[in-house]
Amino acid sequence: MIQFIHPAVGLMLNSVAAACRICRAVQQDLVLARTVEKGDKSPVTVADFASQAIVARELRTALPDVPLVGEENSDLLREPENRSVLEAILAQVRSPWPEADERELLLAIDHGASDPDGTESFFTLDPIDGTKGFLRGDQYAVALGLIVEGKVAVGVLGCPNLTGPDGTKGVLYAAVRDRGAMALSIHRQTPNVFPIRVSPEESPANIRFCQSVEKAHSHSGRAGEVASILGVTAAPVGIDSQCKYALVAQGDAELYLRIPRDDVYREKIWDHAAGAIIVEEAGGKVTDIFGKPLDFSRGRTLEKNRGVVASNGPNHDEVIRALARTAGPA
Ligand code: AMP
Ligand code: MG
Repeated sequence: MIQFIHPAVGLMLNSVAAACRICRAVQQDLVLARTVEKGDKSPVTVADFASQAIVARELRTALPDVPLVGEENSDLLREPENRSVLEAILAQVRSPWPEADERELLLAIDHGASDPDGTESFFTLDPIDGTKGFLRGDQYAVALGLIVEGKVAVGVLGCPNLTGPDGTKGVLYAAVRDRGAMALSIHRQTPNVFPIRVSPEESPANIRFCQSVEKAHSHSGRAGEVASILGVTAAPVGIDSQCKYALVAQGDAELYLRIPRDDVYREKIWDHAAGAIIVEEAGGKVTDIFGKPLDFSRGRTLEKNRGVVASNGPNHDEVIRALARTAGPA
């Protein structure tokens, strides 16, 4: 079993599964999914904070010396006008964490407020990747990666609304460097673990590609130009979150394109760590739009990279060449 392959995998799977249970409950009762606007104007919900609190608490209890670089922090929750949000988060975390109180909750969230220094081992967490998809009642993911010496060593992705390789909805994916990638049901009624593989498709014309739903997150016009250079016939599929990596990893798509719209935005490590290793360990390839490997040693962002290309492999270099022929920010 994969849990025995790397000492952190069981812990990572359990904490992501616990966070997914909370996210599902909140998404089913969207009244609870109250949003607060962050400084960058992106929405954050009760479930984002509850998910980070649960994962952070489990990781801190088991491995207190390994820092966690999470997307969220407790600053907004310490503001008096967000008191009701804090109370709603407490109510959500109490099922896996009955003795939770306000102080411990804020401390758990802020366990994830570390900054990586590039050399140490650390976890990185997106407690809800694709918050906009989550709020639409659509796809989202809980994404947890373990970075060792600037490289992703383990990745776990919880995708509560995605259909897995066995045809059931709600999947946990896990990958360990050089040990392959697996999928298992989020509900764990069946203990079946499926090894996953990328699509064997080699013809560029048959590429199925996916991209963000949110227009601001990827340049769909340029993606269309790349598709026509390659002779791709199928229309792109829009899907939120790292579920895009999961589709490539389990062979339901051959390509995920994330093309920057400007030269200012830098990709966040927690938006890619788990998904990238899962695609690579399923036999695929992941680079930036210039064909460079993703560099997780530069702090909270992929400072040295621009955008992302994840593929099943055979046409990866051709995609990079097609990207070079289309116009875009440097
Ligand atoms: P997706 O669901 O693939 O569109 O990605 C969601 C993620 O996009 C969020 O977690 C954000 O961190 C990230 N994001 C926010 N703004 C941008 C942007 N301008 N370009 C690319 N990604 C972004
Ligand atoms: Mg995200």
